[in-house]
Amino acid sequence: MIDTTDGNRKVPVSFFTPSFTLGNMRLAQRISSLVVESAFDVLARARALEAKGRHIIHLEIGEPDFDTPRPIVEAAKAALDEGWTHYGPPQGLPELRRTVASRVSQTHGLSVGEQHVCIVPGAKPMIFFPMLALLEAGDEVLYPDPAFPIYRSMVEFVGAKPVPVPLREEHQFSLDLDFVADHVTDRTKLIVLNSPENPTGGIIPESDIRQLAEMVRERDLMILSDEIYSRICYDGPAFSIASVPGMLEKTIIMDGFSKSYAMTGWRLGYGVMPEWLAEGVRRLMANSNTCAATFVQRAAIEGLRGPQTEVENMVKEFRRRRDMFCPALNAIPGFRCSLPSGAFYAFVNVKGTGLESKQVEKILLEEAGVACLDGAAFGDHGKGFLRLSYASSFENLTEALRRIQEASKLWAGA
Ligand code: PLP
Repeated sequence: MIDTTDGNRKVPVSFFTPSFTLGNMRLAQRISSLVVESAFDVLARARALEAKGRHIIHLEIGEPDFDTPRPIVEAAKAALDEGWTHYGPPQGLPELRRTVASRVSQTHGLSVGEQHVCIVPGAKPMIFFPMLALLEAGDEVLYPDPAFPIYRSMVEFVGAKPVPVPLREEHQFSLDLDFVADHVTDRTKLIVLNSPENPTGGIIPESDIRQLAEMVRERDLMILSDEIYSRICYDGPAFSIASVPGMLEKTIIMDGFSKSYAMTGWRLGYGVMPEWLAEGVRRLMANSNTCAATFVQRAAIEGLRGPQTEVENMVKEFRRRRDMFCPALNAIPGFRCSLPSGAFYAFVNVKGTGLESKQVEKILLEEAGVACLDGAAFGDHGKGFLRLSYASSFENLTEALRRIQEASKLWAGA
């Protein structure tokens, strides 16, 4: 809270609550539908405990604990020295767009060109912009539940209707296709897929993707395929719906540099989409960001073209941690965790503790000093689960397990 002066009155202003007002000014109604990722709330609570001297192990935030690969950092420095400090084209630097197009063509077995690629600051705008460009009030959007909370937030923000599709543990957190079949209507304009998925680490099997493609092939709708964790797969690559013949023209492939190249703070993402939609995104970029930072785009070219050794080593290390961490979580009383096939999250069923997942989250933070996220933060179907990120050192994970085991005495046998 800070105080600001309004005439003779002192008006309390909070920058962090939806009740932000200043005199007669208040936030527009549309802002109330926007959520703030609960990872940042838990982080704030964890920081408050740390300020009191507590030691907290952070397993709540979804970002690699690795530094950006050195060649990318060097390329950014060189770009700054070369003067890449000016505006660039709203759709992105042509050389980066060509590089993305050739990479996506290669990984997806497709033929896309630079005209299909839009470069944006972070992957998040590639959720927001296509929704702004495609959806009218009342249009319906199918999206996974549990999932990255920003999907629903954005759907509501643009006045469309969110239709959550359950992901079930017994189906390895793939989509419930019967549910999709029952809920696709003439108002459905967008289906969001995320594979590998946040928070479950699940990968949608190729056979499910193909079935889904058959279901929607004849419909006037688009698929937003969030492939931000595409490089972090442990049992072979995730199959993209864009690779199903005839589906490219209905798909927005969305990816970015945050997770694969440990570049969360650099803010760079991209989408590959039909030209008519790229024009919409280009206009939204021209009206909002102008362009993504040009020296960052230059560095990303090095990221895609240069040696991939650091990325491969990071994924190897995530696998090593997963193989230790997930089986060990299964040994905690009341916990059940299937082995995730991608991303860097363990999604643990904690219903066996007899407690609400929110309570377990609280106990782990306050009693054990382990910060993690209640699955309910990712949707109703996440209730009863916790998300623990294993993007943390082997030592931290080992210590977290020891602390969770100790804390489990609070519910085991209770
Ligand atoms: N999509 C998913 C599924 C994510 O988990 C995240 C980040 O956590 C994003 C998109 C956003 O990525 P970025 O940080 O590049 O905006």
